[in-house]
Amino acid sequence: MSKVKQFSVQTGSTVQFIRIDHKVNEIIKESGVQNGICVIFVPHTTAGVTINENADPDVVRDMIMEMNKIVPFNDGYHHGEGNSAAHIKSSLVGPSISVVIEEGRILFGTWQSIYFCEFDGPRSRRVVVKVIEG
Ligand code: ZN
Repeated sequence: MSKVKQFSVQTGSTVQFIRIDHKVNEIIKESGVQNGICVIFVPHTTAGVTINENADPDVVRDMIMEMNKIVPFNDGYHHGEGNSAAHIKSSLVGPSISVVIEEGRILFGTWQSIYFCEFDGPRSRRVVVKVIEG
């Protein structure tokens, strides 16, 4: 079993999805694990992680557009920090995903990528990765 690894992500706007496949793949490669599970965890309450299409950037654009409609930035929220929309989106997307590793690679579908989801940027964020052999 390999050690827990971390890397940082610098986000550039309030709501933004950033591909992190290459960083996760690097960690899997360094771990030497050929078959197992990789857990990708975001230790933040106003960010998340998800898997979705990487071919057409309009997919992510549409996802952000609709999320902003479903969870408006201002809606009479009570939380004094003023970022309730970000907290809600964070819980809707979720703080972690796990992927299956086979022969040293993530078993992605053809169009899948891992996205770090910023909901209260721009900020410097962390991503925690744990590779488990098995
Ligand atoms: Zn808050």
